[in-house]
Amino acid sequence: MQSSNNASKDFIREIIDEDLKTNKYNGRVHTRFPPEPNGYLHIGHAKSICLNFGIAEDYGGLCNLRFDDTNPTKEEEEYVKSIIEDVRWLGFDWDDRLLFGSDYFDQMYEYAVQLIKAGKAYVDDLSADEISWFRGTTTTPGENSPNRDRSIEENLNLFEQMKTGEFGDGEKVLRAKIDMSHPNLNMRDPIMYRILHASHHRTKDKWCIYPMYDWAHGLEDSIEGITHSICTLEFENHRPLYDWFLDALDVYHPQQIEFARLNLTFTVMSKRMLLELVEGKYVNGWDDPRLPTISGMRRRGYSPSSIRNFCKRIGVAKVNSMVDFDFLEYCVREDLNKTSLRFMGVLRPLKVVIENYPDNKIEEIEAINNPEDPEAGTRKIPFSKVLYIEQDDFMEDPPKKFYRLAPGREVRFRYAYFITCKEVIKKDDKIIELRCTYDPETKGGYAPDGRKVKSTIHWVSAENAIDAEVRLYERLFTVKDPAGQKGTDFKEFLNSDSLEILNSCKIEPELKKMKPLDRFQFERLGYFCIDPDSNSEKLIINRTATLRDIWAKIQKKQENKN
Ligand code: ATP
Ligand code: MG
Repeated sequence: MQSSNNASKDFIREIIDEDLKTNKYNGRVHTRFPPEPNGYLHIGHAKSICLNFGIAEDYGGLCNLRFDDTNPTKEEEEYVKSIIEDVRWLGFDWDDRLLFGSDYFDQMYEYAVQLIKAGKAYVDDLSADEISWFRGTTTTPGENSPNRDRSIEENLNLFEQMKTGEFGDGEKVLRAKIDMSHPNLNMRDPIMYRILHASHHRTKDKWCIYPMYDWAHGLEDSIEGITHSICTLEFENHRPLYDWFLDALDVYHPQQIEFARLNLTFTVMSKRMLLELVEGKYVNGWDDPRLPTISGMRRRGYSPSSIRNFCKRIGVAKVNSMVDFDFLEYCVREDLNKTSLRFMGVLRPLKVVIENYPDNKIEEIEAINNPEDPEAGTRKIPFSKVLYIEQDDFMEDPPKKFYRLAPGREVRFRYAYFITCKEVIKKDDKIIELRCTYDPETKGGYAPDGRKVKSTIHWVSAENAIDAEVRLYERLFTVKDPAGQKGTDFKEFLNSDSLEILNSCKIEPELKKMKPLDRFQFERLGYFCIDPDSNSEKLIINRTATLRDIWAKIQKKQENKN
């Protein structure tokens, strides 16, 4: 069962290949995605999800969805639900392996007792500050706690009392007895359990002691029979501890492998910062389309396959780096270009009256649904005397390179006719209407006499158009690395123009058929999708991305240089 795609094999898959060769885990490959339910998932998590579930798929192995829910105070049911929805939406499946670290609390407690009995753990009375003082620094060794040499008997008693609630929060902790002068600070008698009289989302009030991450995580992996425990680089110097616990208990021992986390330009990816943006109402909830959350990207119109593709292409490395947001958009456009139906919609309408067109006539014009996909076929669009075009597509006094509509000029109305502007009507200096004529000989948008026009613009029939609110999004931050600016608060770099709401848009009637989250292209304007807050009174549309492909331009420039 070798991974099929040899060309793009990353270092983790190479490790797995080697383990399969040496039969390290009897040919098994079993990974897990272990989110802490203290926030919504973001695109960085998507990288980890694609990696863990992807490896399981490639090797015919298994991947668990496991909630690392060992911290009762920050975790909520809402997050659990959203995480399940997001992983499923990305296209992955865990069968019956939806697991919770908290389900192992009894087992973890037993393991802790086992370590105490082996003389490898002790109860300490020092306060958090004292513990930190005794720990020493990277340049000075730590000192043993005065409680380090308690008898096994006494430790067992105290630990039992910690569990039954004899002590207040922070009065005691259980620590591993390793080495207070270890060069790796994580090994200086790390805390395994703390006292916290808090209710847990699943175990409710059963426990008032909770396991620390380093203690719990390896046990969760071990209990589930994980083979390769993949995590991000900041856990590299926790690995000796991960190994120490499992060796000390002499239990099944998975292998921890670290990879570089994904960072994206012009956004933040820390859950704490995302929470701050949501709670401070700088954005409209966790699924605000400007956020790098999976739910935000879904609402914005990103497809799961484009996110999976993005994750595949950025690869897996051992060094942290920053990926260009433009590259993510490039992956999104590439996918949407292939799959999106095209429509016409006018964001900032300007009324056009075709003077020589019959008053009550409505004509059906044939339009191509997706030039990238012949199977998508054609549709009919109504054309009539009164139409809307984009305000930007007309200039009264056009500069040299402006080829669109202008007084006296002829352009093509997409799929319909050649139209000539005859007169501009204004009210208080503002252009409110154009009077135009059409050439009936140019039906379909081509002149039999072979004359050409320099521009094609989109339009909708006023009588048939539906109204919509369209929301345009720009980057949420004005700088590439808002979290990395020394001495500043990341919120200082919020882009005040990140959301623009246009509420008098006119769109072609065919879009009535669309359902929430359906994706499509408005010709010349970009990719869009129906916002789930739409209802029968109000249609809300989000712009997913413009058609401008910045990434392709960057690539071209690079190529020209080389
Ligand atoms: P916190 O900010 O609370 O430490 P976290 O971002 O590490 O949270 P977890 O819920 O612990 O979030 O993450 C679940 C998994 O996703 C972990 O295995 C973690 O390594 C991985 N992960 C989190 N952020 C990224 C990222 N930016 N790139 C790749 N993987 C990530
Ligand atoms: Mg974490």
